[in-house]
Amino acid sequence: MRNGRIVTAEVEVPAELLVAGPWGHRVQIIDYDASSDTLYKPVSPREYSGPKGAFMDPYRHASDARLLSDPGFHAQNVYAIVMRTLARFEFALGRRVSWGFQAHQLKVAPHAFADANAFYSGRDEALVFGYFPAHDGSMVFSCLSHDVVAHETTHALVDGLRERFTDPSSPDQAAFHEGFADVVALLSVFSLRGIVDKLIDIDPTAKQPSSGKASRLIARDRVSTAALKSSILLGLAEQMGAEMTGVRGQALRRSVSLKPSRTYYVSDPEYLEPHRRGEILVAAIMDAFVRVWSSRLDALGEVARGQLDRARVVEEGAAAADYLLTMAVRALDYTPPVQLEFGDFVSALITADTELRPDDGKYRFRAHLLDSFGRFGVTPASKGTTAQPGLWESSRGEPFVYARTHFESMLRDPDEVFWFIWENRKALGVKEGAFGHVLSVRPCLRVAPDGFPLRETVAEFYQVLKISAAELPSVGLVAPQGMPPTTPVSLYGGNALVFNEYGQLKFNIHNSFDDSVRQQRRLNYLWKYGFFEPTKPAAQPFAAMHLQRALNATLEPDSREEW
Ligand SMILES: [Zn+2]
Repeated sequence: MRNGRIVTAEVEVPAELLVAGPWGHRVQIIDYDASSDTLYKPVSPREYSGPKGAFMDPYRHASDARLLSDPGFHAQNVYAIVMRTLARFEFALGRRVSWGFQAHQLKVAPHAFADANAFYSGRDEALVFGYFPAHDGSMVFSCLSHDVVAHETTHALVDGLRERFTDPSSPDQAAFHEGFADVVALLSVFSLRGIVDKLIDIDPTAKQPSSGKASRLIARDRVSTAALKSSILLGLAEQMGAEMTGVRGQALRRSVSLKPSRTYYVSDPEYLEPHRRGEILVAAIMDAFVRVWSSRLDALGEVARGQLDRARVVEEGAAAADYLLTMAVRALDYTPPVQLEFGDFVSALITADTELRPDDGKYRFRAHLLDSFGRFGVTPASKGTTAQPGLWESSRGEPFVYARTHFESMLRDPDEVFWFIWENRKALGVKEGAFGHVLSVRPCLRVAPDGFPLRETVAEFYQVLKISAAELPSVGLVAPQGMPPTTPVSLYGGNALVFNEYGQLKFNIHNSFDDSVRQQRRLNYLWKYGFFEPTKPAAQPFAAMHLQRALNATLEPDSREEW
């Protein structure tokens, strides 16, 4: 909502024949409102079919008032944004992407309850969106907010790609879920060129809205890094957050306004809370984004003195955001499956991009990201090479045993991959005495900028060792001060194995049991923040959810909760 008008954009989603709901092959919209015990009647699928088998949008010419009040449009809106976000992940990863649960279809409730809240619940296999009255008495529907829907969908997707990221671990791991969901929400808006065009030279601090007549030109000094940050980025964050403070807080606004400093990450206790810590990730990535965008504009010629072509400026922003979003989603495959810290994600970003595009020349995203993260106190987990700092160490040329495993089965069979891991357990840093499980084996096909396909198989391996606090010294750890010796403790290890097109291991990205520094850090953190204390069931589920949101680093591993 801006100046009393809603901002809309048309989006394209993969075509499919819907049933009433709409229900498609990956999403089921179930419009039941628990607060008023109402089941809204869905729009008939006939409304979506035009002449000669074409698909159409029944709300294309609807008034703002109708879009705001018609539950059928709300249902369509969540369907479209969920499907668009899913398609974006599948495009980046070069394969189908599952939700974080067994079912194929994610349930979505656009008007789930009367409350300023929205969340992903893995346990219910659902996204639920609340509604609430605004200050002026009008109703705010969180399902109409692009960023809220994209954010919650991203939780469901990341949960499918890295199911152990919801384990109690470091403050970074819980923060990553939040920060990454915001990065996807922000970057995916840049492909909606009409919206970027509307916001690009608005001064969000101005009391009076501008006349609204957009010029074909834009002043050169409006697109410096600082100007872009305070116009489009802050504008978007405000736009997205304006009515949603109950749902999303001021997270986006704070993230994009965060001044680079190492202190938040390194020493500020306020930034140990997952949502606050996630802002650091958003700030570093969006900082790199505006710097890349602005530097791309340096190459654009001025069309008049001090003026650039507005459409080209928007187009460059869309292209850079698109590139960065693809890079960020691909990086998920290059993250260790357990105990993620931000530095791991930086190395994952750098490595995933280098594999596909060895030359960082066009956008120089890798250089900018390393620099931005560094200014926020985050250094890559791996040193890398002189030519490309931050790269994960390559496993190419290492003497792994392949003789007893079969190439074809290694592409999709978890038992075959487990055999490979077992044969090479020493070289891979796998702990012999711990329970181990191959969580996934995923063949993927990505297209490199030179047009050639890059084939990879990505496997996730996870290990857990359940011991008591008294046994910690036997694995090189010490019990945190005050922890009773009988306290049960779970230790985790995990490897992401990336195989090349010939079935040879390229990368073994792992956080192993033997990393006693990281294991000890996690243990101390969880002890200090009360993970080992028994939790009482709360009488008020929504209050409990807000509490869990704040404490989501301390959830039991197997209780998939709301995010
Ligand atoms: Zn969230």
